[in-house]
Amino acid sequence: MATPAVATKLLESKYPPVTLFSSSPTYQMACQQLRVVAEAMPDIPADIIERLTIPKRSLVVAVPIRMDDGHVHTFVGFRVQHSLTSGASKGGLRYAPHVDLGEVAALSMWMSWKCGIMNLPFGGAKGGIACDPSLLSVGEKERLTRRFTEEVQTIIGPRTDVMAPDMGTDEQTMAWIYDTYSMKVGYACPEIVTGKPVDLGGCVGRREATGRGVVYCILEALKELDLRPEQSTAVIQGFGNVGSVTSEELVKLGVKIVAVGDRYGAVRDLHGLDIPALVKYAAAHPQKSVVNFPDAEAIDPAELLATPCTILVPAALERVITAENAGKLKCRILAEGANGPTTPDADAILAKTDIYVIPDVLCNAGGVTVSYFEWVQDLQQFMWSEQQVNEKLHELMVASFNKVRKLARDRNLTNRTAALSLGVLKVALEKQKRGLFP
Ligand code: GLU
Repeated sequence: MATPAVATKLLESKYPPVTLFSSSPTYQMACQQLRVVAEAMPDIPADIIERLTIPKRSLVVAVPIRMDDGHVHTFVGFRVQHSLTSGASKGGLRYAPHVDLGEVAALSMWMSWKCGIMNLPFGGAKGGIACDPSLLSVGEKERLTRRFTEEVQTIIGPRTDVMAPDMGTDEQTMAWIYDTYSMKVGYACPEIVTGKPVDLGGCVGRREATGRGVVYCILEALKELDLRPEQSTAVIQGFGNVGSVTSEELVKLGVKIVAVGDRYGAVRDLHGLDIPALVKYAAAHPQKSVVNFPDAEAIDPAELLATPCTILVPAALERVITAENAGKLKCRILAEGANGPTTPDADAILAKTDIYVIPDVLCNAGGVTVSYFEWVQDLQQFMWSEQQVNEKLHELMVASFNKVRKLARDRNLTNRTAALSLGVLKVALEKQKRGLFP
């Protein structure tokens, strides 16, 4: 086992390992976070940190499909399994134009830490197809999803790798994966994906789970800061599944949502936006956007993050809070609904402010937690009620929140370093105990 001094040396000399992911800023960010953890937790052997830097298995596939106009277009798809140490690997599948191998690798790493923090029997994985889903017809999306499933068939399975929705994918996408996989193996296999429609073996409350988990964390943070939801305001960046459900749940608790934005535009109402009306408006909008929502002031999306509020929820892309804008945030709580919204440089700036950060790997872990409930129900062929799901989710989120806060306090760490350390420690310990094969 390497001594702490040797561990740090190894990291310095070997970082970054030359891999196909190395040039990706998102992957570099995930590696940089891991380096911070290695420094905060010097007992983790350097060789284990090195193994955790390199995802276990990555697959890049060509996904040719016939488009509606008759021509054949080939998309590129990715599936990265960061770790299978703790069980099947688990993580979403995203359809977005910017998807590349490095981004997927970073997201798979964050899934490992997230599952570790929540103590779920999963490793991390992520997948994606580089495409703009808003430009695809339903038929094109179905053919894309089915062909991708076929291409990754050899590395997925209910005990090896279980996909779920992420940016640009939804319950319908999961239904197609479920059907394609089942047709190949010859029997209905709902446990191959989570986030399915409820009538196909999906779990009640899964669609809302990430947003609900975000809100459970916010409530704990408000309590700690002696603030009340009814006296709080919130700004939400991104109005997809996570941003919209978080907004709806916050409004139910009396929080005023003063601004919401997405990649097309942003709207503000200092008296509080009518969130149920905004949800309906965005659902009917061709790009599912909040842009031009009536009865609200249109603002520049660049202004959104600097809008004064109690709670700021980035719920869209990674790396949106950077060294350039971190000093301009005017929130008391930063609740990261998105994966990787804050860069390490921005973290260093935030650490000098009194902004209470609820890091992504904890804050948005409600989604994968209810995915775990769904997988368990499918394996047991026994369904839970929504009350059971929500109560169990609440219990696990609060327990993990408290574990993170305790480690942060005991070791004088930021919430992010504490959360990442908990996740990394869980995987590292299991790797160490299992030993090296052969
Ligand atoms: N895509 C979600 C995430 O980033 C959920 C993953 C899952 O349920 O497996 O956490």
